[in-house]
Amino acid sequence: MKLSPHTAPAEPEDLLIRMHNLFGAAVDVTGRPYGDTSRWVCHGCGAHSEFPDTDILAFTRMKANAHAGECRAAYHRLEE
Ligand SMILES: [Zn+2]
Repeated sequence: MKLSPHTAPAEPEDLLIRMHNLFGAAVDVTGRPYGDTSRWVCHGCGAHSEFPDTDILAFTRMKANAHAGECRAAYHRLEE
């Protein structure tokens, strides 16, 4: 069983920002730079944008960065 950090998952076409959590797993912000179309997902623990599901980039980036700064998960097998 492979449990190395999920550091470089496939890049979504609408990837705007890739951060890394405390263990090196990717935290991706996707969407468009303008409008309330961005969302985030953590490839370490599976956490993602909830309410609102999409938001303006400034808020999404802030939430993703806050999550990346506290998440220690490396890899998950959760289903959406
Ligand atoms: Zn996480």
